[in-house]
Amino acid sequence: MRLLIGVVIFVVAAVFAGRRLLFLYGLISSGKPAPGRTDNVGGRVWAELSEVIGQRKLLKKTVPGIAHALTFWGFIILLATIIEAFGALFSPTFAIPLIGHDSWLGFLEDFFSVLILLSLGVFTILRIRNAPSRRQRNSRFYGSHTGAAWIVLLGITLVVVTLLMYRAAQANLGHFPYGNAAFASHAVASWIRGLGTTSNKVIEVAFLELNIAVIMGFLVFVTYSKHLHIFTAPLNIIFSRRPKALGALWTTPNMDPEQLSEDDVFGVGQIEHLTWKQNLDLATCTECGRCQEQCPAWNTGKPLSPKLLVMSLRDHLFKSAPSLIGPGATKTTEVPLVPTVIDGDVLWSCTTCGACVEACPVDIEHIDVIVDMRRYKVLMDSEFPTEANLMLRNVENQGDPWGLGQSKRLDWTKSLDFEVPVITSEIPEDIEYLFWVGCAGALDERASKTTQSIARLLHSGGVKFGILGPRESCTGDPARRLGNEYLYQMQAMGNIETLNSAKVKKIIASCPHCVNSIANEYPSLGGNYEVIHHSQVLEKLISEKKLSPASPVNATVTYHDPCYLGRHNSVYEEPRSVLNSVPGVKTVEMHKHRSKGFCCGAGGSRMWLEENIGKRVNMERTDQALLTGADMVSTACPYCLIMLDDGVKTRQAEGTASDDMKVLDVAQILERSLSE
Ligand code: SF4
Ligand code: SF4
Repeated sequence: MRLLIGVVIFVVAAVFAGRRLLFLYGLISSGKPAPGRTDNVGGRVWAELSEVIGQRKLLKKTVPGIAHALTFWGFIILLATIIEAFGALFSPTFAIPLIGHDSWLGFLEDFFSVLILLSLGVFTILRIRNAPSRRQRNSRFYGSHTGAAWIVLLGITLVVVTLLMYRAAQANLGHFPYGNAAFASHAVASWIRGLGTTSNKVIEVAFLELNIAVIMGFLVFVTYSKHLHIFTAPLNIIFSRRPKALGALWTTPNMDPEQLSEDDVFGVGQIEHLTWKQNLDLATCTECGRCQEQCPAWNTGKPLSPKLLVMSLRDHLFKSAPSLIGPGATKTTEVPLVPTVIDGDVLWSCTTCGACVEACPVDIEHIDVIVDMRRYKVLMDSEFPTEANLMLRNVENQGDPWGLGQSKRLDWTKSLDFEVPVITSEIPEDIEYLFWVGCAGALDERASKTTQSIARLLHSGGVKFGILGPRESCTGDPARRLGNEYLYQMQAMGNIETLNSAKVKKIIASCPHCVNSIANEYPSLGGNYEVIHHSQVLEKLISEKKLSPASPVNATVTYHDPCYLGRHNSVYEEPRSVLNSVPGVKTVEMHKHRSKGFCCGAGGSRMWLEENIGKRVNMERTDQALLTGADMVSTACPYCLIMLDDGVKTRQAEGTASDDMKVLDVAQILERSLSE
């Protein structure tokens, strides 16, 4: 009888789960091709080992990370108990090689059963403390399906409790294969031993069947809920962008007008435009809210939450299934994602800072899908915030977002007391680096002061460098992040032609956005250069004693990590090292720093867009800097410098920041130590 009941439970659940999994496979694979997802096998295997088995990203949040890791590792061990449970349907003394013999396995099974129960207790406390009903938008679970999470906690509890109960009864009946090492089972056995043999027989069978029923019910529930990630997360991670979905945008579509047809679609405008990997991303979201918790847009009251964006797209994907797969599917939905599924204010609020990508434990690639949707709006619908028009026109006509023109690009050199070679044809052999100044560095009054400092420091350090002057043009980054891929590629190809004709090999750039474009994005258009950021060069010059900071700069300095230097390009150490080399400088970190650094609000072309909803991102970051008590805010990006300087000036005008507070690039602070 026990066998019959067990088999019926198994078959019914397997049919439901199997049908659902087939449906999910069909829906996810209905997406467009996603090339490049199987290269770098070593990196993918390592990702699987470190992120899935090692739970690396989850462990970044210590308490929930440990609880999740213990539950995950526990379930790997408890896979043996599932085999034991099904085996016990056939024979109470079921055993196969490795399973059902040695005490070490019994111990591990019990040990992890207890750890899982403790972890569930931790999850319960965390969920109650972080309940969206109490903390509203401050809860990372705001907008998540919290009901399903409670069902899963209950389900896992039942798996462990029923397991311990039938094992305890087995121990009392004398056919439990593990000795006292299975301590928890024996402890429970001692509690129910007094019930007698008959009762223990009933308990064994009842809880064995219950255990199988809960496991199989859990299996079915998982395939219908956000806990699908149990199956999809390992796949999503192994097919994810390696090493991470930051730096370059993933795709560079062919924009050559001569090779385009009227049917070409740029970006993502309807759900069927997503790739299968983007569909897999949607199906994998655990609704954990780690991305939402870090998002500068969400944290300043904007409607954009990367989690809610992913959930909205996922819900729409599932709703659209009849149009995408199965009999009668037209393969098209005709439903515009923006604004029907994703509000325009959500789409344009993103600064492409990458905090979501960095935080996501299952490697969802938020920025690519956001920029894909922007591309569609800009290139297919010609719809984008009107204020961006001026910036785009300026880049196209004048080669810089402010429209000041190429002729002004040498103005910053006028106050230098040495000549900066301007490369007019091929770069001379005795000039090692091209200094890519960038639009802000050349044309913005505040940023150009940093440029002058960098030039003087390079000169003092004996670095031979030249500049392109009027031949330099915007890298195209602001246009690209806004979605205007066409303008980006025009700019990029023009610059690549200039750089290649000048036979440039090595580039120093002061703007992390320029570093990112030239180093990571130009290669796909034929531009291959060795690019380093000025903070890296300065750190090297200091370590080689070519620059020796000596005069004290007595200040407490807090360093703001530019997103495109830190998260996108993993440069965290060198700017800090430059600051720490300056005598008198005391550094303090903001609460959000390094990979958790908070955006200044300028990335993703947000620098040129109105910010009318919620608190301004630069003001939030400025307030975070003020909280440290520092008297200098330092950074290593002209955009960040401008945004934070605006923020500090606003607070100074309000009287909430000291008039002495300064915002300076690390190069400027270093130069003070060399010149004072
Ligand atoms: S990239 Fe930054 S601003 Fe955009 S959704 Fe992610 S965390 Fe939010
Ligand atoms: S996108 Fe990633 S970080 Fe955000 S809620 Fe989903 S799983 Fe969590």
